This record gives sequence, C-alpha cells and structure tokens, in this order.
Amino acid sequence: MFYIGVDLGGTNIVVGLVDEKGNIIEKVQKPTCRERGIRRISDDIIRLCMSIIEKYNLDDMNLVGIGIGAPGTIDRKKGRIVYSNNIAVRDFDIVSYIRRKLGNLGKRILIEVANDADCAALGEVKAGRAKGYNSAIVITLGTGVGSGIVIDGRLFSGCQPGGGELGHQIIVKDGKPCTCGNKGCFEVYGSALGFTNMAREIAEKYPDSIMNKMVKGNLDKMNAKVPFDAAKQGDEVAVKLLDQYITYLAIGLNNIINAFKPEIILIGGGVSRQKESLIFPLRKKLKNMVFGGKMMTEIQVAALGSEAGIVGAAMLCEN
Ligand SMILES: [Zn+2]
Repeated sequence: MFYIGVDLGGTNIVVGLVDEKGNIIEKVQKPTCRERGIRRISDDIIRLCMSIIEKYNLDDMNLVGIGIGAPGTIDRKKGRIVYSNNIAVRDFDIVSYIRRKLGNLGKRILIEVANDADCAALGEVKAGRAKGYNSAIVITLGTGVGSGIVIDGRLFSGCQPGGGELGHQIIVKDGKPCTCGNKGCFEVYGSALGFTNMAREIAEKYPDSIMNKMVKGNLDKMNAKVPFDAAKQGDEVAVKLLDQYITYLAIGLNNIINAFKPEIILIGGGVSRQKESLIFPLRKKLKNMVFGGKMMTEIQVAALGSEAGIVGAAMLCEN
C-alpha cells in the first residue's frame, strides 16, 4: 500500500509518494506563491498528487490516502486550516475542497490535514531517529518553535485546534513580545530567529567580539551559526551568549520533560545543524534541572529534516 504526503509550506508545496515503511519513493514540487490564495494553491496540490497517481497507476486499491501538513492552527477533526499566517489563510475547508475535486477517487480514499510540526514528529517516529520509541516530542527551532507530541505512537494535539504548541509556554515573565500576543514565550528566546536577534544585540554592544568580524561589520548578516563559530574560536562574548541561549532552551525543555517524561526529544531546524555543540551542553544543563531524579529522556538531533514533514503527513492516514 502507498500513501501521499503533502508538505504545504510558505515557499514550496512538496508532494511525495511514501511506502508502508516510510520511504519516500518520489517527490514533486512547485512554489507555493501564497499571494494567489488557498484555492489556487489547493488546485496545485491536486495537480501534483494526480501526477503521482497517474504515473504509478494508483487507485483506492493501492493508495490509502493523502495527508497534508500545513503551517498554523489546524482543525484536524474538521479538516480545516483555521488560521495560517505563513500561507495567508483564514478558515478554509481544505479536505472537502480536495475531496470534491478528486471526484470518485476522493470519495474512496482518506484525506487528512494536520499541523506541519505534528507531521514532522510523526515522520520521525515512523522513519527517523525516534523509530521504535513509544513517546517522542520533536521541537523545531526555526523562525518560531514548532512542536509535535507523539504518545503511545499516536499524535497528541489536545481537544481543540492549537493544542500541543509548546513554543508558546511562557518562560520569562514580562519578557519580549511574541507574535501570539503574549510576552516571554519560549519561541521568542528558543527559536533560531530569537537566537539570531540576541546575537545581533550582543555583537552591537561588544564591538570587539569576533562575531562582528565574521559578519564583516554588517549585523544584517548575523545568523544562528555565527555565535557557534565564534565560540569555537574562543570569543568570550559568543561563549556567554551561547550559554544564555542554551539555558533558555533548557528551561523550555525542562518544562516539557516534567510534563510528559517522553522517551526521546528530537531537536530539528537550522540550529540543530550544530549537533553536539548544541546538544551536549543542553543535556548537561537538563540533567541538573529535571524533576524526579535521573534524567531518562534522550535528547537527540532530528534525522529526517524537511522529509519528516512528507513522511509524517502521509502517515496521518494511519494515525
Ligand atoms: Zn507566544
């Protein structure tokens, strides 16, 4: 049996054919061009799916269904995108739309939609680094902090849309403002964007820091890699900044571990490319923080990267 997974992002729509083991057999993609509206975007999703369906002679006998991972607040039960800033959508019944346009095939296969971070978590459990684990939480450090929670092999996202959004736990009272309207959210301090902002502020304050040389004096060129590189060269300002950032991450993850005690937490997104330079000090801080004695939760870097979204979206059809 086969599944189709759709990763609907702000930049690209990627559609993949996925087998039962979670292998991606083929991938096709198109730019999202979000300004044209969700109906035309959905028409392209259908076109990409149909190109795969026709090429592999798929029908309801060998295709279980189509799963879509979309950014923002998703009502999976109703098959709706409630709100997505990323693709500029407010309340759209994407599942019914696609089902209708697929005609007879649409009536006979499953069509699902879920939050993209939830899909990434499911993908990691099905075919990535959390394979074989019962409880896993995937935290993606990007523009924001995405999160997906898998308990007993199933996605957990609460009883209403917007559940399981661990990036919006408040970790600093009266802290920096978050896009959600609150102040001091984990996302503001733990995301790659938050980290880059912190690096920019501190580099400006300490002009002698190597970080300034690395961006050739242009702080617009600051990214999440620069502080790690500067710290490796012994730049004290970068070392302190890194320690502060990893402390914020540890506070957020400590709350998550104490609430769920998952077997494994995977860190994904751009910052996770720093691998052990990030994970090793993070584990060390967490060991002294978590409640309930010895820390049993493994902390690892996510394995599948952007492909986790496609595999996980496909696996919505059996989860
Ligand atoms: Zn927030």
